[in-house]
Amino acid sequence: MPLHQPRSGRASGATSADQDLNLQLLVTPLPHDRFPSEGRDAKVTMQTLRAELLLDGNSKQNLATFCQTYEGDEVRELMALAVDKNLIDKDEYPQTAEIERRCVAFLADLWNAPGSPVGCSTIGSSEAAMLGGMAAKWRWRARRRARGLSTDRPNMVCGSVQICWKKFARYWDIELREVEMEPGRLCLDPERMLEQVDENTIMVVPTLGVTYHGLYEPVAELCAALDALQERTGLDVPVHVDAASGGFLAPFTAPELIWDFRLERVRSINASGHKFGLAPLGVGWVLWRDRQDLPEELVFHVSYLGGDMPTFQINFSRPAGQVIAQYYDFVRLGRQGYRLIQQACADNARHFAQRLTALGPFTLVHDGDAASGIPAVVWTLAEGAETRFSLYDLADRLRMRGWQVPAYPFTGSLAGTAYQRILVKRDFSREMADLLLEDIRQALVFFQAHPVSAPLTASEAASFSHL
Ligand SMILES: *Cc1c(COP(=O)(O)O)cnc(C)c1O
Repeated sequence: MPLHQPRSGRASGATSADQDLNLQLLVTPLPHDRFPSEGRDAKVTMQTLRAELLLDGNSKQNLATFCQTYEGDEVRELMALAVDKNLIDKDEYPQTAEIERRCVAFLADLWNAPGSPVGCSTIGSSEAAMLGGMAAKWRWRARRRARGLSTDRPNMVCGSVQICWKKFARYWDIELREVEMEPGRLCLDPERMLEQVDENTIMVVPTLGVTYHGLYEPVAELCAALDALQERTGLDVPVHVDAASGGFLAPFTAPELIWDFRLERVRSINASGHKFGLAPLGVGWVLWRDRQDLPEELVFHVSYLGGDMPTFQINFSRPAGQVIAQYYDFVRLGRQGYRLIQQACADNARHFAQRLTALGPFTLVHDGDAASGIPAVVWTLAEGAETRFSLYDLADRLRMRGWQVPAYPFTGSLAGTAYQRILVKRDFSREMADLLLEDIRQALVFFQAHPVSAPLTASEAASFSHL
């Protein structure tokens, strides 16, 4: 029944008064700033909101995001079933707690954890990174205190990390020693890492799938360099791998790559279930190699079936559906299904990359090759190419067709150059790749006829200096 009272005094229901009222609402904007005093008709409100949300664009064409934009009917059904479940209520929803436990066990297996690993779900890799980083800080502090050493200047060493690590460092008072990019050195390398590491380094964080270019940082090489450092100096610096994307890719499409708990120095790993884990938005994972790697002071205990359930997370209440959907994906697809999907993404990325370079003056930074990185294609304008547009212009032009293909700078001495990237996900089919390539071709034709950023002539440049 509508919340509005028909003013005519006629009975409510599907009366003409209601219909009049509904039509009236179509010409009345939704309230924007003040908490509304009365409610509105459900159907019309829904219709109006649905239309407003169209302006968000179409997530299938959002090639900027790493996150899943496809979910099948079964996942939607599971999400609806779980809409009223709170993940934190282990006692009330014990079966959901059991499903989360199974997911952690699967990931421990997938990432080759020996012994007795522990882990939990999070809202995404950002929370997971926070937890992994806190555990590293607490372990470092305990080790230092036990030896009567100062604990006031912790630092972490990493390459060009995702923003969540900058947050972690700021929120927890850690000096972030970020080794930025140089030409030909896009990833953290042992040499530059060792220059930054010292007795106050709580951890080194390599990224398996750097957000800027998608390449895998050389986790095994970095670990070997830290092993050698320990042999030389006794300094034992642990590694946390940010495998937000790669944690759900490398095990399937780069099985020969050694990056996980097979490396003894890797104490913890995070990954985003809602990226290449294929689950809907709102789930990440963090695992520790061994129970001892998660300091007991960080663990809180909630009651569970009359017993005790240790938890370590920043949020209290959280939706349960994503975790249940993650479990569904794991058992529905298995290793074989994940391999098929991730390989298809890598193949589509390479297809796109090859044709892209045939279209225009583009140099590839990453072509989606599954052995070296995630299914993404990253490019820049070829050196010396006399284009009369920038990649920012190309991004704008593609946006007119609904595609979101961001242009952005790298870090360090590459901060002055524009790069462009697409993430190739499960629903970016060969068909979509070809449609995007055609739109890029047309954009290039357009820029030939209508150059956007023509180089300034000497006299134009001189006149600007007077402004
Ligand atoms: C996306 C991403 C994050 C943050 O993960 P969320 O799941 O979005 O919180 C952290 N690190 C890397 C490398 C990422 O790609």
